[in-house]
Amino acid sequence: MSEDKTDHCEERQRRKRINLYKRIIIIVIVAIILLPTLLCIILFCRLNSLQKDFSELRAYIEASERTAQAGTSSKGTGQGAGLNMENDGRVPVKDNDTADSTTDETPQESADVNVSDTENTHETESVTDDNETSGNTQQLIEQAVEQGRKVVYLTFDDGPGDNTENLLDVLDEYGVKATFFVNGHHGYETALNRIVMEGHTLALHTYTHEYESVYGSVASFAEEIITLQDYLTDVTGFRPYIFRFPGGSSNSGTPLPITEYIDYLNENNLIYFDWNVSSGDGGGDLSAQQVHDNVLNGVASNDISVVLMHDATYRMTTFEAVPMIIESLQDMDALILPITADTKPVHHHIN
Ligand code: ZN
Repeated sequence: MSEDKTDHCEERQRRKRINLYKRIIIIVIVAIILLPTLLCIILFCRLNSLQKDFSELRAYIEASERTAQAGTSSKGTGQGAGLNMENDGRVPVKDNDTADSTTDETPQESADVNVSDTENTHETESVTDDNETSGNTQQLIEQAVEQGRKVVYLTFDDGPGDNTENLLDVLDEYGVKATFFVNGHHGYETALNRIVMEGHTLALHTYTHEYESVYGSVASFAEEIITLQDYLTDVTGFRPYIFRFPGGSSNSGTPLPITEYIDYLNENNLIYFDWNVSSGDGGGDLSAQQVHDNVLNGVASNDISVVLMHDATYRMTTFEAVPMIIESLQDMDALILPITADTKPVHHHIN
């Protein structure tokens, strides 16, 4: 009887031990699975943060290199090479061209524009680190105007798209720097990086370009800009701050007075540009020759021209016209520059 009891006791002890071992084994297995997972999550977060640091560093180095190049190579060639410094506005991206159907800037405002000396509300020093270089550019512009040379800013809206890289190749061939007001089209990361790396100005044109979303409220307007800025910063390492309203600041499709959106821009150190020369490629099917003639006629009537063109896949005649336009401008010794923080804004009259 007492032997039975002892056996029973031993059996219970044995089971207890087995249960303990089981628990230990389960804990060890769980730890083996969980620890590497946790480690992976921590490393992933760290990698992300390092990538961000790397992008910022790369952007800084590129900007420094460009500054150094400007110091050695800007000899007033009239092509604006090397003048686009780190504070140049750089911008956007997008995944399809459907927004283009709603994006057309009407050319009618071309006669209704002023180049404002006083409207540059952007604090130059807040975006410009290299005052010497910007001073050089300003000097170059003043000299050009004094000498009767035309100063021209070529701007392309609604990209990037399938033709952006071709356009960049053409600009490179002629040694011309331009300004790209982009939307949030995805799938063109290489083009966006080339815009920045090759010294053009990347600028903002809202994420969707859909009027309802852009102009629905000041909050949605802000979201359109910030989403695009975040996207472009992720892709290129640059955070653009130069802006163009879809349809221009004089467009009549806004539910709120345009001044409310302008207030937002001013409060957030964003500079907006309209245009005083339209290529007319926003409406109708123009031939390359017509696009060229519209631009050249517009340039003829201004000392300083901000030229509106579109970088949309289906506007092939614009692409055909660009080499002709550049050749004509170079023949007349025009000074072709990218828009920067120091560029005097061209604003449409607001009624
Ligand atoms: Zn547009």
